[in-house]
Amino acid sequence: MNGNRTLTMIKPTAVKNGHTGAILAKIYEAGFRIIAMKYLKLSEEQAKAFYAVHKERPFYNDLVDFMSSGPIVAAILEKNNAVEEYRRVIGATDPANAEEGTVRKLYGTNIQENAVHGSDSDDNAIIESDFFFSKLERFDLI
Ligand code: ATP
Ligand code: MG
Repeated sequence: MNGNRTLTMIKPTAVKNGHTGAILAKIYEAGFRIIAMKYLKLSEEQAKAFYAVHKERPFYNDLVDFMSSGPIVAAILEKNNAVEEYRRVIGATDPANAEEGTVRKLYGTNIQENAVHGSDSDDNAIIESDFFFSKLERFDLI
């Protein structure tokens, strides 16, 4: 059974360019509820830990530098089949290949500065949500 939660980050360039409000509006318009949210800046160590699964990839060091370069917005999103649904809303990793109307097409700058993160599996959604949020920071508003 597919889970109903995913973890997103609005990445530093999108925050710096003032797209936070528009991206949150897209998230609500797509039918997600926000269960938890915070505005923070990752340290280099925290960015390394978050992206540890990618540590063998050639872009890892650049990605860590970028993700710790400025404030981000992290949020837990809820909807049926959340991981897959949200990846549909954000579009392909490279904004140049993302479908019209997707978050990355609209607000992404390049393959690294691609506006948002979305979890890639239910297991990772849980791991990533636990990375940012305690139980006291989550709200199930029905
Ligand atoms: P995310 O995990 O951020 O939702 P994704 O699942 O579409 O993105 P991944 O393959 O998990 O893509 O890569 C993680 C992140 O690493 C990408 O979002 C992007 O910021 C960066 N990245 C991926 N591929 C490249 C690349 N070829 N060059 C530079 N940066 C890259
Ligand atoms: Mg990924």
